[in-house]
Amino acid sequence: MSRASFEALEQELKTIHDLESANELLQWDMQCVMPVAASDQRASQIETMSVLVHERKTSDALGALIEESADVEQASPYDSYEASLVRRIRRDYGMDKRVPTELEGRIAQAQAEGFGIWREARAASDFKAFLPSLEKQIALTHELIACFDPAESPYDVLLDRFEEGSTVAEVDRIFDVLKPRLIELTKQVAGKLDKVDDRILYGSFPKAAQVKLSEDIAAELGATEIAWRVVETVHPFQQSFGTNDIRLATRYDEEFFSTSLYGTIHEFGHGIYEAQIDPSLNRTPLCSGVSMTLHESQSRLMENLVGRGRPFISYAWPQIRAAFPDAFDTASPEDFYRAVNKMQPSFIRVEADELTYGLHIILRYELERDIVEGRVQAKDLPEIWNARMKEYLGVDVPNDAMGVLQDVHWAEGLFGYFPDYLLGSVLSVQIWETMLNDIPDVNEQISNGDLAPLRAWLGEHVHSSGSKFTPTETIERAVGGPLDPAPYLRYLEGKIADLYGI
Ligand code: ZN
Repeated sequence: MSRASFEALEQELKTIHDLESANELLQWDMQCVMPVAASDQRASQIETMSVLVHERKTSDALGALIEESADVEQASPYDSYEASLVRRIRRDYGMDKRVPTELEGRIAQAQAEGFGIWREARAASDFKAFLPSLEKQIALTHELIACFDPAESPYDVLLDRFEEGSTVAEVDRIFDVLKPRLIELTKQVAGKLDKVDDRILYGSFPKAAQVKLSEDIAAELGATEIAWRVVETVHPFQQSFGTNDIRLATRYDEEFFSTSLYGTIHEFGHGIYEAQIDPSLNRTPLCSGVSMTLHESQSRLMENLVGRGRPFISYAWPQIRAAFPDAFDTASPEDFYRAVNKMQPSFIRVEADELTYGLHIILRYELERDIVEGRVQAKDLPEIWNARMKEYLGVDVPNDAMGVLQDVHWAEGLFGYFPDYLLGSVLSVQIWETMLNDIPDVNEQISNGDLAPLRAWLGEHVHSSGSKFTPTETIERAVGGPLDPAPYLRYLEGKIADLYGI
C-alpha cells in the first residue's frame, strides 16, 4: 500500500514540477524575450499558473500522500532518493500550508505595487515616497512570521525560508569575525588605491564582440551547445528547467568591460550547479540547488576563484585581447589581472569588489534584522544607512538613490535573503581549499584551459545531490565541517598583499 502511495506521490510531484517549470518559462520569457506590449496578458497567464501550482502544492490529497509514504521513507536509507524526496516535500508542504492563501495574495499584490513605487522613488531619489510602501511590507512580514512557530529571533523565521536552519546566532557567528577585519582591510586598501590601475577596463567595447566573447567563455568553462543558452537581460540571472536546459542571462555595458564577462562567469557557476545534479532527480523537488548560500558559493567560486585568478586569465587572455584589440593590444595578462581585481570602496553593492562587497551585505543584514526585531524604524533607515556606510566603507553617500534605495529586495518584501550572498562567498573559499587537497594541480589544469577535473570534483562533492540534504548537511558533506570565515579572510588577505603590498 505505502509503495503505491509513494509512487502516486512521485507522480503528483512530477506534475507539479512540470507546471512550475512552465510557469517559470513564462517568467523567463517575460524577462528576456517578450515584447513589452504583452505584459498585461502575460501577467494573467502567470497568475493563472501560479494559482494552479499553489492549489496542488497545498492540497489535502498531497498531504495524505506524504503521510502514507512515511513507511517507505523509514524503510529507506537516509541518503536514498525515496527518503530524501519524502523529507524534502514534507518540509516544503509544511511551509506552504502555514501561510494562508489570502495572506499570500496580499503579499504578492504588495510586491507588485512595491516594485513600481520603489522604481519611481529611486529614480527621484525620494525615500519619503517609498516609506509607506516599505512600512506596509514590514507589517506584512510580521504577519508572515506569525504564521510560523516562534523562534529565538523573529528574523530566524525569514532566514530559514531561504536557507533551512539558518539563524541570527549562526549568521552573527560568521559576520562578527568578518566585520572588524573587513573594515580594517578596506581602510588599508583605501589608503593605497593608486597601486592598482584599472583604466584599461574603461573605453569602447562594442556589444556584438562582448556577446561573442561571453558565449565563447561560457563554452570554454563547460556550457555545451545542446543544453545551455546565453541571452541578454537587464538584471543578470540564471534559470534552469532541468539538468539539460540551463539559461544564463547577461548584461552588456559598452563602456566598462568586465560587467558581461564576469557576469557570465558568475551565472555559469549557478548553471553548472543545476546542470550537474544527478539527472535521475529531474522533474522532482530534489532537482535544484539546495539553498541560496550553496548556490552563491558556486557562482562566486567560478567568478572569483576561477575567473579572476591568474591561471584562467592567462589561458583566456588571447581570446579576450583578440575580441577588443583597440583596448587591450598593449596590455598584458598581468595588467588585466590587476585591473579586474581592483578593490575600492563604492556606493553600489552590485558593482562592489570582493573585499568591500561583504560590508555592503553586513550593513543590509544588520538593518533588516534590527527592523524585524523592532530596534530600528523604517523612517530612520536613510540616516542609519549613511552613517554606517561612512563607518564601514569610509564613503559619504550623496543621495538615497545611491544609498538606501539602491536594491529592489525590500521593495518586494524580501527580508532574510541578503546574508546568503556573503555566506556563499565564505563557503566558496572553503570548497576551493577542500578541492585543492584532492586536485593539487588544478591551477595548472585551468591555465591549460582544462576545467573538466574541477567540474567533476564539484559535481561529485557539491552538485550531484541536488536538494537531497539540508544546506548544513550539504556543506558538511562538501567541506567536512560547518561554515568557517577563516579561509575566506586568509584568501582576501593574500590577494590584498599581492595587489597592494599590504
Ligand atoms: Zn549569484
